[in-house]
Parts: sequence; structure tokens; C-alpha cells
Amino acid sequence: MKLLIVEDEPALALTLRDNCEFEGYEVIVASDGERALALAAESTPDLILLDVMLPKLSGLDVCRTLRQRGTTASIILLTARGQEDDKIAGLDLGADDYVTKPFSVAELMARIRAHLRRATALEQYEFGGVTIDFRRHRAEREGVPLELSAREFEILRYFIRRRGEVVTREQLMQDVWRMRDYPLTRTIDNHIARLRQKVDDGEPRFLVTVHRVGYKFLG
Ligand code: CA
Repeated sequence: MKLLIVEDEPALALTLRDNCEFEGYEVIVASDGERALALAAESTPDLILLDVMLPKLSGLDVCRTLRQRGTTASIILLTARGQEDDKIAGLDLGADDYVTKPFSVAELMARIRAHLRRATALEQYEFGGVTIDFRRHRAEREGVPLELSAREFEILRYFIRRRGEVVTREQLMQDVWRMRDYPLTRTIDNHIARLRQKVDDGEPRFLVTVHRVGYKFLG
């Protein structure tokens, strides 16, 4: 699981980073709003801890832009005491939750775990006549069973959670194959091609190629 921490107070950013790394999450940190948007696009985190009062772009602006881009990551806002309007505006803009500073780190970690659990509990998904049951590892298309490997289920889950976003081969290598610098991007392309034959009609409608970059799921 990958977390993006957006916080401009260095001491708090460090505390959050340490605690999240201790829980075993991969952590990236941004200290202003513009950097947060760049890092979110680059590394597609599963969850974003987003301070509201930030240099360059406010956390609310970042939240709005992320949701406009179709980011499906859970977003937890870090709001200042007494800023009731920020909480309401943030939830309206697509944040999933908020904590008010000063907060208990233990409570924040519990909330992070809860959100990540919910995010991973993708049980069933349908697109273009294809139904995928992740819990039972079953898939069918127009009522006809589809033979999908465990890896193909994992690839689909990965794309579904990032639908509308560009996914690079490097991201697939790291997050689905879990190997850094895996030498054969061809392996990934072959898997995608096979998956496309199963879920797409000859020409790719749902798993589309983004030239020179990777793929995008449009289901
Ligand atoms: Ca701040």
C-alpha cells in the first residue's frame, strides 16, 4: 500500500512518515499543494493524507483537482481546529474523512487502516457485459464463464481501482508483479494482450493503450 503525505510542517510530516512506514506502508511526502498533485499523478497512491493549510495550493484545491482527474485514492484531510467550513467543503469536494489537529497519531493510523481495508474490499465489478467476482475469483462475459488467472484478477483489480488514470508499465511491475526493475516490459504487454482478448472485443475498448506510456482502464 502506498501513502502520499501532504504536510508542510516538517516535524509533523516526519512523525506521520515514521508511523506509516512502521505500519509497512510505502510513503511519499509532499510539502506543498503543487508537488502533491505532481506526486499523486506520478505514483498513484492508495491513500492521501492531505493538510488543508498548504503553500501554493490549498489542500481543498488539491482535493478538488484530484477528484476531477478521477483519482480513486482515499483522501483524509488534516484540518485545523475551528475550521469547520474546511471539513464540510472538503467532504463536498470528495474527501473521505478528516482529522482535526492536534490529533492522536494512533487514532489516525486506525482510520488509515480502516480506509485501506474498505478500498481493498472490491468484491464485484461490472463493465461492458463482463462481471468480475473478486471474492470467489469468478468472471463471466454475457453469462459465459471467463478463464482468468490469479494474476489477471489482480491486474483487473489494479486497473479498476485506478479507472480513468494512466497506469505505466513501471507501476504494474512494482505494484502487481512487485519486482523493481523487472527486465521484461514485454511480459506485461503480453499479459495485457491476453487479458484484452478475454474482456475486450478484439479492439481494445476498456483496456486502452496510452502510446509510449502504458495503459488506461475505461470500464
Ligand atoms: Ca499546514
